[in-house]
Amino acid sequence: MKYNAFLIKYAEIGIKGKNRYLFEDALIKQMKFALKEVGDFAIRKEQGRIFVEAKADFDYEETTQALQRVFGISAICPVVMQPDCEWDKLVKVVCDYVDHAYPDKHFTFKVVARRSDKTYPKNSCQIAADMGEQLLLRFPELKVDVHHPDVYVNVEIRNQAYVYSIELPGPGGMPVGTNGKAMLLLSGGIDSPVAGYMISKRGVYIDAVYFHAPPYTSERAKEKVVELARLVSRYSGPIHLHIVNFTDIQLAIYEKCPHDELTIIMRRYMMRIAEYLAKENKAQALITGESIGQVASQTMQSLVATNEVCTMPVFRPLIGFDKQEIVDISEKINTYETSILPYEDCCTIFVAKHPVTKPNVGIIKRSEENLKDVIDELMEKALSTIETITIS
Ligand code: ATP
Ligand code: MG
Repeated sequence: MKYNAFLIKYAEIGIKGKNRYLFEDALIKQMKFALKEVGDFAIRKEQGRIFVEAKADFDYEETTQALQRVFGISAICPVVMQPDCEWDKLVKVVCDYVDHAYPDKHFTFKVVARRSDKTYPKNSCQIAADMGEQLLLRFPELKVDVHHPDVYVNVEIRNQAYVYSIELPGPGGMPVGTNGKAMLLLSGGIDSPVAGYMISKRGVYIDAVYFHAPPYTSERAKEKVVELARLVSRYSGPIHLHIVNFTDIQLAIYEKCPHDELTIIMRRYMMRIAEYLAKENKAQALITGESIGQVASQTMQSLVATNEVCTMPVFRPLIGFDKQEIVDISEKINTYETSILPYEDCCTIFVAKHPVTKPNVGIIKRSEENLKDVIDELMEKALSTIETITIS
C-alpha cells in the first residue's frame, strides 16, 4: 500500500462566503510554494476541499512536514487513491490500507462511505455496511462502533476511489496573502522571528528589516539573521530582507546624545526607518518582538517612547508572553538553535551601563535635537545603501 494523495482540511476559511475562493486560492498558492522543493504534485479544488495528488514518488515525511507549515490548513489526511473502483479491488485496497495504517488491530471503527458517482452499483449505506463486513472478515480483532469509533475509515467513490482515516494536525491560522503585508524588525534574537511567525500565521505577508553596524557587528551576525529569515520563510513564504547599515546613525547618537538614552533614541530611529521601508514596500504595519518589561527598552514608558515616532500600527504579538513561552514557540518553529548563536547585535554594542527605564518623550525629543545638523544626511545615506535579499 502506498499513499498517493492528501486531502487537505481547512477551518476558518469556510466561513467567508464569497471571499472563500480568495482564501482557497491563497492556500493553494502557499501549498505549491511549500511543496516546490519536495516533489511533483498536482493540487486541485474539489467540492469545498483541496486534494494534493502525487505525480511521482515522494518522501512521505518531508511532504507532510512541508504541508504542516502551511497556514490555513487545519488537518492533512494521507489518502490512498485507487483509479479502479470495481468492488473486489476496492475491498482489497481498503483492507490493505487498514492493515498497513494500523499494525495493532485492537480498535473500534466505522466505515463512512460517500458516493458522488451515482452510477456505482452500491449506494453509500451499502458500501459502508459491506466494507465493514469485509474488514471484520479479514481482521477479526476489529470491532465496529458506529457511535464513538476510534477510527473512521473513509471510502469515497468519485471518478476514483479515495480511502483515508488518519488526520495529521495542520498549523491552523489563515493562508498567507489573505491579510495584507507587514514589515518585521528582525534581529538575531529569539523574539523577533517568533513575532514574524505569529503575524504571518494570521495570513499576513512579511518583509523584514535588519539593522547592522559593521564593523562593530560581524558578517556572521548578518548571516545569522539571513538564516533566521529563511527559517521564518518556510512558513511565511518569500521574504524580502532589507539590510540597513546603521553604523553612522549609531555613532552620531553615541556622540551627541546622553548615553542613558542611547537605546531608546536608537530604537526610535529604527522604527522611523522601518516605517519608511514599510510604506515604500506597501506594507501596512510594523512587527516587533517586544514584550512588556523584558528589558529596559521594553518597559511601558520605553514602549511608549519608541511607539511615539510611528504613524503605522505596530504589532507586538509577544507583548504579554513570558520568555519561556516565546522560547517554546521558537523551538517548535525551529528558530531557537540559530537565535542562540552568540553573535553580537548592534543594540548590545552601543549600550549604556545604566539605560533609562522610564524615558520621558519630551526629554528624548530634546536630546534628538542634538542630531539635527547631521541626521537628515545620515538617514538618506542609510536608506540609499540598503541591501535587499530575497529569501525563498
Ligand atoms: P529579539 O530577541 O527579537 O532580538 P530582544 O529581546 O533582543 O529581542 P530588543 O533588542 O530590545 O529585544 O529588541 C526589541 C525588538 O526590536 C526586537 O524584537 C526586534 O523586533 C527589534 N530589533 C532589535 N534590534 C534589531 C535589529 N538589529 N534589527 C532589526 N530589528 C531589531
Ligand atoms: Mg535583540
